[in-house]
Amino acid sequence: MIRFLNLKKINERYEPEITSRVNKVIKSGWYVLGEEVENFEKNFAAYCGAKFAVSCANGLDALRLIIAAYGFGCGDEIIVPANTYIASILAISQNGCTPVLVEPDERTYNIDLELIERKITGRTKAIMPVHLYGQAVEMKKICGLAKKYNLKIIEDAAQAHGASYNGVKTGHLGDAAGFSFYPGKNLGCLGDGGCVTTDDEQLASRIRVLRNYGSDRKYHHIAKGFNSRLDEIQAAVLDVKLKKLDEDNQRRRQIAAFYRKNIKNPALILPETYEETAHVWHLFVIRCQKRDELQKYLKEKGIETLIHYPVPPHKQLAYQEMAGESFPISERLHREVLSLPMSQVIEEDEAGYVVEVLNDWGGC
Ligand SMILES: *Cc1c(COP(=O)(O)O)cnc(C)c1O
Repeated sequence: MIRFLNLKKINERYEPEITSRVNKVIKSGWYVLGEEVENFEKNFAAYCGAKFAVSCANGLDALRLIIAAYGFGCGDEIIVPANTYIASILAISQNGCTPVLVEPDERTYNIDLELIERKITGRTKAIMPVHLYGQAVEMKKICGLAKKYNLKIIEDAAQAHGASYNGVKTGHLGDAAGFSFYPGKNLGCLGDGGCVTTDDEQLASRIRVLRNYGSDRKYHHIAKGFNSRLDEIQAAVLDVKLKKLDEDNQRRRQIAAFYRKNIKNPALILPETYEETAHVWHLFVIRCQKRDELQKYLKEKGIETLIHYPVPPHKQLAYQEMAGESFPISERLHREVLSLPMSQVIEEDEAGYVVEVLNDWGGC
C-alpha cells in the first residue's frame, strides 16, 4: 500500500533531536510563550525574509488575527479565490467581513489575476491570495491593484512554506501572511500550530496582543483578544524541522519532476510549474474527467489518493448564503482534481509504481 502521506516516517527522521528538545522543554517547567517560541519566531521570520513572525495556535487563527489586527469588520470585503480550503474564507467571515470569491486560473489553480479588478468595490479592504498546492501566486498584478486601490495583501501561505515568487519567499510577498503548521503541511508540528509574518511592526505587536487575550502585560487587557498561542513544545519541534525544510522541499521537487516526466497517460492533465513561482509541491494534483473511477482504480492497485477538495466552499452547507452563486471553473476543478502520493519520504520505487499504474489506466 502506498500511503498518500506517511507522517510517522516523516517525523521519525528527526526523532532523536525532537526528543531531546522536547525533554528540555519538559524540564524547563515553562510551556506557553517562552524561549522556544521566541527563538522559533526569530528563525521563521529570517527564513521567510520578513521582519517579524508572530506564532499562534493554527493557520486559521493566523489569518483571523491578521484581519482582526487590521480592524476589518462588518461591511468590509476581502477578495479570495473560490477554490481554496474553507479556512481562508472562514477567517474572513468570522471577522464579520464579506468574502468575495474569484475563479481560479486553470493553468496554476491560483486566483485568476485577470478577474480581480472587476470585483473591487468601495468596500474592498484586502486581497487574500492563496498559494494553493504549494505554488506561489504571481504577485505582480495583485501588488499593482493593492497600490492602486489602497488594499492590504494578506497571503494564505498555509500550503507554501518555502515557495517563492521571483526569488521572494511566501510570507514576504504581501503586507502579512498566515501560515499553518498542521502536521501534514510542508513544515508541520506534532499537533496544531500557526504563524503570521509581516514587516509591519505595528501589526505584529497588535497580533501579539490579540493572540494573548488582548493583553499587553499580565492582567491588563487593551483589546477583546483571542487565546491563540503556540506551545513551547511545538515551537521546539518546528525549530528542528525548519532546518530541514529546504532539503525536504527539494526532495518534493524531485518527486514532482519524476511524475511530470514519466506520467504519459493522455487522459490526465498534469500540474504546470513556472520558474518565477518556485513550487514546493505541498500537493501534486492531477486532473481527470473520470476522477472517481481513477481514484477507485488506484485504490485497487494499492495507491492511496485524496481530493483537494471535493466540494467548493460556496457549495458547503456552512455557506448557504452563497449557494446561488456560480463559479463554473472552480466547480469543474473540484470534480476533476486528484492528489497523488507526495511527500519528502516517498521512495523512488513507490513513485515509479504510481507512474506505471497511471500509465496502464485505460479509462479515457
Ligand atoms: C491548512 C490550511 C489552512 C488552515 O490551517 P489550520 O492550521 O488547519 O487552521 C488555511 N488555508 C489553507 C489553504 C490551508 O491549506
